[in-house]
Amino acid sequence: MHRLPIALFTSVCLLAPLSCGSDASTDAEPSAAGGASIEVVASFYPLQYVVERVGGDRVSVANLTPSGAEPHELELTAQDTAELSDADLVVYLAGFAPAVDEGVADVADDHALDVSGAADLTLTYTPIEEGEENPDEANTRDPHFWLDPTRLEAVATAVAARLGEIDSADAASFTANAAVLASDLRQLDGEYKAGLASCTNPVIVTSHNAFGYLASRYGLSQLGITGLTPEDEPSPGDLAAVTDFVKAHDVTTIYYETLVSPAIAETVADETGATTAVLDPIEGLSDASQGADYFAVMRANLANLRAGQGCT
Ligand SMILES: [Zn+2]
Repeated sequence: MHRLPIALFTSVCLLAPLSCGSDASTDAEPSAAGGASIEVVASFYPLQYVVERVGGDRVSVANLTPSGAEPHELELTAQDTAELSDADLVVYLAGFAPAVDEGVADVADDHALDVSGAADLTLTYTPIEEGEENPDEANTRDPHFWLDPTRLEAVATAVAARLGEIDSADAASFTANAAVLASDLRQLDGEYKAGLASCTNPVIVTSHNAFGYLASRYGLSQLGITGLTPEDEPSPGDLAAVTDFVKAHDVTTIYYETLVSPAIAETVADETGATTAVLDPIEGLSDASQGADYFAVMRANLANLRAGQGCT
C-alpha cells in the first residue's frame, strides 16, 4: 500500500464536511486556523455534538462515522486508526461499535473517554416476545442513552471535566458551555414530558431497539422489529410475532429510521393496516434527517411521536 499524504486525513471533516461544524450554536469551525487547540475524535454523531457544544472554539471535532453511515457496524480504515492514535482525546461509547472498542484499545487507550459510565447504562435489552433467536442479546446492555436528554447532560459534564484536564486554562469555559447545554437539554426534557403526558397508545413499534431509554423516561414501552442493531434481519417468525403484537396493541404507526431501509417497517405496516413515520435514533445525520442537529431531530421525533401515539 502506498503512503498517502497524512495531511489529507488529519480530520474526518475534510472527508465528510456535512458531518462537521454544522452546529449553529457554537459556530466552531473545526480545523480552522485560529483558536482550536484540542483535536478530538468522537465515535458517532451525538458524542460529536456534545464535544462541539462543550468545547466551543477551543476544540476541533472529527466524527469517526461518515455522514449518512450507520455507526453500529462501523469498520475502521487505516486512516481512522491513525486519527484515533493522533487525537488529543477520543470520545466513544464502549459496547456500541466493536471496531471502535478495538481501535481504542489498540492505539488510544491512554487518551480516550468512554462515556458509558457517565451515561449510566442501566437498561438491558429484554425482548418482548418469547423465542428470541439470539439469546445472547437478552443480557446485552442497551447503549442508546442519548435519546434520554438527562443522560446526555451527564455525558456533557464528563466531557467538560476531561477537556478541562487537557486544557486547564479553558476549564471554566468548558464548564460554562456544558451548563448551557444542560439547560437546553432540561428544556427539551420538559417538552417531552409535557408532550407525551397524555397519549392514546403508549406502545411504540420501532425499526430497532434504540428507544428504550426514551420510552423508560417518558412512560412508553417499545417493541423493536430487529434487535439492538438495525442490521439484524428479522426472521419470518419474528415478523409474524411483530404483526400479532401490533394488532393486539392497536398500534397505528410503525416507525422507521433515516439511516436504514424502511422496507421492514413498511412490510409490518402493510400487513396490519398501520401507517409509517420517522422516529430517528440520531445515530448519525444525513440529507434525510429531519433537522440539522440533535435538538432539531429530537423535536421532530417528538412531533411524530405525538401524532403516531395519539397524544393530546
Ligand atoms: Zn442503535
